Amino acid sequence: MRHGTLRSPDYRGVPVIPPDHPRYRSLVTRERLAEYARSGVVAMEGLTSHGRGEAFDYLIGEQTTATARLAEQTAAAMLMSARHPVISVNGNTAALAAPEIAALQKACGALVEVNLFHRTGQRVLQIEEILRNAGADVYSGEAERLLPLTHDRAWCRREGMYSADVILVPLEDGDRCEALIGMGKKVIAVDLNPLSRTAKTATLTVVDEVTRALPEIAKACLELSPADRNRLLASLDNHYLLSEAIREITLRLSHALD
Ligand code: ATP
Ligand code: MG
Repeated sequence: MRHGTLRSPDYRGVPVIPPDHPRYRSLVTRERLAEYARSGVVAMEGLTSHGRGEAFDYLIGEQTTATARLAEQTAAAMLMSARHPVISVNGNTAALAAPEIAALQKACGALVEVNLFHRTGQRVLQIEEILRNAGADVYSGEAERLLPLTHDRAWCRREGMYSADVILVPLEDGDRCEALIGMGKKVIAVDLNPLSRTAKTATLTVVDEVTRALPEIAKACLELSPADRNRLLASLDNHYLLSEAIREITLRLSHALD
């Protein structure tokens, strides 16, 4: 193995990425996702979701913006004040951020549960294993068709996300976000696209890349005082956060060629 890149058993000759390449991190991440797609952990469709995310990450400057940081602190306040917080994990999130999920779980005590659009028993087991290997305590067991959806994201555990009051959904699809809100849950989305249905439907949207967002949320879980949490919860305004994210993008675009 050269330069620390991942190589799967069915590696088909992807060029090795030189570490001095200006987009090294992005290229290594793409290769990692492609390898997870070959092993079935990431759905092929998940690769296009990643591409959409990358495009929006360019627009926010591939950094955590001031608004995203405020959203991350508010997400921590929501998780720490929840009765039954759950972190929902799909293939892309497991492939990109399994250690970050484990660290956030340790910081806030949330239950970690796998939920997939392209669900097979095999994929659920593979993703649970990745999470466990990264140190997460994964909630598994008998799933039932409990969410009001006609596709496979309806499957979840009764004592898991079905009973959650606050649910963190990185890289979510708009349909399920809407269904969870319709069930009376508070939904925290992590989505680089401030215009997505998910971003607009969630209780709180963190417009940041998932591997940057999760450590910030975990850090805030450990640092916020009860008074800080109450202040953040009282001032939660997702419309404001999204309009600020769009304003930050517009400002960057208007100076893009300076
Ligand atoms: P919606 O259904 O909410 O309108 P969509 O159909 O555009 O969204 P999905 O494929 O359902 O998108 O969900 C994936 C979302 O996750 C996209 O909006 C994409 O911007 C975002 N995304 C992809 N990769 C990342 C990442 N690494 N970090 C944060 N967000 C990401
Ligand atoms: Mg969608």
